[in-house]
Amino acid sequence: MVTMLEVRDLRVRYGAIEAVRGIDLTLRQGELVALVGSNGAGKSTLLKALAGILRPVSGSIVFDGEEIAKFPAHRVASRGIVLVPEGRRLFADQTVLDNLLLGAYRRRNAYRQARPHDRVEEHLDRFPVLRERRDRPAGTLSGGQQQMLAISRGLMAQPRLLLLDEPSLGLAPLLVRQIFDTIDELRRRGMTILLVEQMAKLALRRITRLRTAGADTCVAEQTLLALEANLKRLQKHRDWLQGDDSVVDQTG
Ligand code: ATP
Repeated sequence: MVTMLEVRDLRVRYGAIEAVRGIDLTLRQGELVALVGSNGAGKSTLLKALAGILRPVSGSIVFDGEEIAKFPAHRVASRGIVLVPEGRRLFADQTVLDNLLLGAYRRRNAYRQARPHDRVEEHLDRFPVLRERRDRPAGTLSGGQQQMLAISRGLMAQPRLLLLDEPSLGLAPLLVRQIFDTIDELRRRGMTILLVEQMAKLALRRITRLRTAGADTCVAEQTLLALEANLKRLQKHRDWLQGDDSVVDQTG
């Protein structure tokens, strides 16, 4: 598989707080990699740095052979990296339709190439509940509907690499299922996805690899080995892994 993203010794700070301490990460085209780690391990910070929202203090981010660590967010987006952030960050006063169309502007080349209104239809077909509410302000949607809109808005930018930060957070089990069905569909279409997700059971079943966001590279690698061993054991429990999702718990 072709390497799409190569992160080396990346460090990101908030003033005195070093939130990402020298992480390495490789993503190959078409992979779904889950990024796991305890609260405050720096997962969201890493995704924001990959999306160009935070500027790393040092380290390298190579995407499709190009160094992008110092690119501002709009240039990163133009290369096809799109973040669906934790907490959705929609324009609450704007309609569902306008939020979708604004997603297309994130990647200007894509906006020029393909007619955004046609792509809106595709997303409204995927989540019919959004079609019913297309002229309502995004702030009036339920949490699950907002998550559908946030993902759809991200997809409007036609990402090559989709960064999903806790897409199931706070959602009812049925909606979680719908979000994961969408992730499955995107994978079938060959999209590369980096996923931060606390729904371990649903995430583990789908991933091609697991990656930890740890205090430093050394600790992260050790943790990764432990997690991989656990993952192998988990995969033996096929009944559990392939079982009924009607009861979705927080710990997996
Ligand atoms: P969680 O699972 O709780 O979302 P996380 O792994 O995503 O955690 P981050 O949100 O990236 O972790 O936070 C990493 C560290 O950076 C934490 O110590 C957090 O308190 C700190 N941090 C995050 N955002 C800011 C900010 N805007 N200003 C200062 N410190 C921050």
